[in-house]
Amino acid sequence: MASGLDDQLTEALVRTRRFFTRAEVGADLRTLHQIGGRSADDFYRDRWSHDKVVRSTHGVNCTGSCSWKVYVKDGIITWEAQQTDYPSVGPDRPEYEPRGCPRGAAFSWYTYSPTRVRYPYVRGVLLELYREAKARLGDPVLAWADIVDDPDRARRYKSARGKGGLVRATWEEATELVAAAHVHTIKRFGPDRVAGFSPIPAMSMVSHASGARFVSLIGGSMLSFYDWYADLPVASPQMFGDQTDVPESGDWWDAGYLVMWGSNVPVTRTPDAHWMAEARYRGQKVVVVSPDYADNVKFADEWLAAQPGTDGALAMAMGHVILKEFFVDRQVPYFTDYVKRYTDLPFLVRLEERGDAHVPGKFLTAEDLGDDSEHAAFKTVLLDSATGEAVVPNGSLGFRFGEAGVGRWNLDLGDVDPLLSAGGEGVTVQLARFDGGGGAVTRGVPTRRVNGHLVTTVYDLMLAQYGVHRAGLPGSWPTGYDDAAEPYTPAWQATITGVPAEKAERIAREFATNAEDSRGRSMILMGAGTNHWFHSDTIYRAFLALTSLTGCQGVNGGGWAHYVGQEKCRPVTGWAQLAFGLDWSRPPRQMIQTAFWYLHTDQFRYDQFGADTLSAAGGEGQLAGKTTADVIAQSARMGWMPSYPTFDRNPLDLADEADATGMPVADYIVGLLRAGALRFACEDPDAEHNYPRVLTVWRANLLGSSAKGNCSAPTRRCARRRRRSGRATSCGASRRRPASWTCCSAWTSG
Ligand code: SF4
Repeated sequence: MASGLDDQLTEALVRTRRFFTRAEVGADLRTLHQIGGRSADDFYRDRWSHDKVVRSTHGVNCTGSCSWKVYVKDGIITWEAQQTDYPSVGPDRPEYEPRGCPRGAAFSWYTYSPTRVRYPYVRGVLLELYREAKARLGDPVLAWADIVDDPDRARRYKSARGKGGLVRATWEEATELVAAAHVHTIKRFGPDRVAGFSPIPAMSMVSHASGARFVSLIGGSMLSFYDWYADLPVASPQMFGDQTDVPESGDWWDAGYLVMWGSNVPVTRTPDAHWMAEARYRGQKVVVVSPDYADNVKFADEWLAAQPGTDGALAMAMGHVILKEFFVDRQVPYFTDYVKRYTDLPFLVRLEERGDAHVPGKFLTAEDLGDDSEHAAFKTVLLDSATGEAVVPNGSLGFRFGEAGVGRWNLDLGDVDPLLSAGGEGVTVQLARFDGGGGAVTRGVPTRRVNGHLVTTVYDLMLAQYGVHRAGLPGSWPTGYDDAAEPYTPAWQATITGVPAEKAERIAREFATNAEDSRGRSMILMGAGTNHWFHSDTIYRAFLALTSLTGCQGVNGGGWAHYVGQEKCRPVTGWAQLAFGLDWSRPPRQMIQTAFWYLHTDQFRYDQFGADTLSAAGGEGQLAGKTTADVIAQSARMGWMPSYPTFDRNPLDLADEADATGMPVADYIVGLLRAGALRFACEDPDAEHNYPRVLTVWRANLLGSSAKGNCSAPTRRCARRRRRSGRATSCGASRRRPASWTCCSAWTSG
């Protein structure tokens, strides 16, 4: 058969099409003549006609928020064009516009896509059961109870899951069915057996708030949305105490040295990418770290093709080079001053004896100095270089809350010039390593005794951890950059990342040199590529150490520039009032979704790892012998982290019982717990009264993305398959209740 467009079949098809076209088709099939003057091209003019133009954008979590002119005819979007009335930013830097991307330009096609679901659908067998029960009993709640309380009926609709069979229902009937499931669940099992999930309120605040308010007002638990699916780099709150407060994309243009690390900006930040391209004409050097030849690589002066997921090793090696060359071999006043003012590097850390070694303990605090003032245990300590005395500087957590901290919640050091290094006798400490090299390294740090406590500084520990040797200190150290056996040298990273050691070393040096020359205008532009990995917080912190050591954070054109930066729920205080029903009752029930899926999809039964699998060498062994589920249950019992459902009984019944005794509810509950007459549901998540019954998901593809990592559905399917095949499971799955979720707009179960 001939290929291409000139074969006989193509010719025949084109000729046949003549009969469907109301026009005169040329003999060569390449021209079309329509009769009727200008009306012949009405179809073209109609395509672009409109009766009004409105301004809008696309709420699709792209973080672009580009301004668009939306052309509307008879209430239907007909087409869109980029808006071009952004204010000018002046003659000395690129303008914002034009903003937009090809996906946005085609947005109205999504809006009217024939594949878009526009009606409610219910599993056919469930709808039949419900209609029959309601006709017989005359009440929606009784009908729902009739289905879920009957093992045979419940099995019929649950076993139909995953096999299609969804049928169209009316909105009235679907909402009635869902409402009946909620009412029955609250009455029989308690409101904390109802859960809700929806991601990213910043993307569409009203949609998120409307559902969250409903769930909160009925006492259900809203599940967190940002943490597990890894859009929020938790390194940001860990290091800076905020949620990715980063510069806007226009600041990329201010950078003298730009590392695009895990962010393919021409594709994922299309309307912003021009700043990166334009800055190159200004002399900016662009480096890309990407395992593949991604679109942004073609803009780069250098490409570091690190293996996927190994970015942390590269960043640690770059940190090794920067600490050695810019802090130990010589000092850069700008860097030294910056880290003394804005980082915890000068703070003192207690060293604790563990066996025959020392390990880093907690920060030395004002309490350790004998201070018994308010929150003294949360006020960190440093050494004044002028006197060598311990000083409690402003700005630590102990000054944040309480009257004694008024006026001291700031970083004003006054006349104090902190010492970066403790500078005394060298003591070996055991430091964890996670690269399979034996669990720990033993390296020396300078120490002092302060009020009887053996202490060193964060800076000293950092040099030891990064393997940067100083004369006179004991321990095992790299012999040079080419020592691949000791972490975290350039040669060591090359064995993990595949990036040549020379390249990692040179880029680190260039990054820091540019920061020194420009006072902090080196930038790392990060994205999801390095965030969606196990323990991505530590990967990110390795990056942020680079930008912090070199004085780049908080500097125009410097620091980290993250893709989440421009998308926030700005009116969050008022929004939270609305979304979580705080105007009616507080606190609302909220739970981290990670633990929720882990417990309630039975993932804990298949987890091969103990809670102590990744414990650091030198740890206290608190997780030894525990499972992760044990730790979650302990956390709920201790009140560290809420877990829903809370107790193994309906909380409404518990409140009624407390009322009947005349006791405050809290006292009554504590009494039951102390007597062992009440247990936490998470201690036995599969027990009949302990698992959630209704889950509502909106604006999310839970199994496809948002609940990722827990592999819940496949695991449960495997378990069912094993049970059907009669094969025993190693984890007690054969004891488990039948699968109990259904998936529709609401996930309901008996
Ligand atoms: S980046 Fe694209 S999808 Fe996002 S708002 Fe801009 S044009 Fe729309």
